[in-house]
Amino acid sequence: MKILPLVSLGALALAISACSPTDTSADDTAATAPAEGDVSGDMDTAAGETPAYTMASEPAEELQLIKLDCGTIYVSDLNIFSVEGDYAGQTDTFTDTCWLLRHPDGDLLWDLGLPGELVEAGEQTQDVFSVSLDKTISDQLIEMGLGMSDVEMVAISHSHFDHVGQAGDLDPATTWLVNEAEYGFMFPEAGAEGDDQAESQFPAFEGLTRETIGDNHDVFGDGSVIIIETPGHTPGHSSLLVNLPETGPVLLTGDLYHREESREGERVPAFNFDVEQTRASIAEFEARAEELGARVIIQHEPADTNDLPDVMR
Ligand SMILES: [Zn+2]
Repeated sequence: MKILPLVSLGALALAISACSPTDTSADDTAATAPAEGDVSGDMDTAAGETPAYTMASEPAEELQLIKLDCGTIYVSDLNIFSVEGDYAGQTDTFTDTCWLLRHPDGDLLWDLGLPGELVEAGEQTQDVFSVSLDKTISDQLIEMGLGMSDVEMVAISHSHFDHVGQAGDLDPATTWLVNEAEYGFMFPEAGAEGDDQAESQFPAFEGLTRETIGDNHDVFGDGSVIIIETPGHTPGHSSLLVNLPETGPVLLTGDLYHREESREGERVPAFNFDVEQTRASIAEFEARAEELGARVIIQHEPADTNDLPDVMR
């Protein structure tokens, strides 16, 4: 079996070991500050105010949500997925899902999965993770009669290895909608020690047209698809609100949760960038889900992702 150098997987291990609560104060400010390109400032909230969770307008009649299989992750010890230590010794198999949103005004790809090279290389194991991939996003789009060049926009929930893997397959004309804080996390400003290494981690994103966004970014300007900041897992971690015409509101969690048990028990991974910020994001996310009556889909949870229709409307 070919051994694939999982550079970004190693980066995650590095991030886990480097995790420190003292890193986070400067980024807290960045993560909550309104950013340029935030076109729905009405949903911004100041500290202490009750957030308004209203939708901007009617759902788009033709909007479709399509799940893509972006791999499988077997975790041989779940200990790092709960700061409480109560997952030690447990194992689990995560789905890795990406999502195509088809809107009359364009297509958005949400998350980029595991590296496409895994299809040829076969399952790879590093630390507690064994990862595999049956089919690339590109090949799944071809089966739908589409290509990567049909994807006008891309956004990632966050920059961990299992969400950015196929960025190299994007068409250079694709617009990358990136949370300002996450961009700063991925590409630290030049000059500081160690930055050379950090800057080289995401070369596939460097050629894309970039649009920096903040909280509550209304992708198509009609309230049908909204990227919301849920920071803590990483500084600019985001979730996706999709207002489908038939299904109703759907919330894709990103990695706010990895499994149903994590949501039920409000468990926070030990490798999160900021544990307290994650708890605040969970509280806000759940309030929004309840207010909207939204269907919550945990992207790594097989129970949430395995039995969906081919196309959600
Ligand atoms: Zn993930």
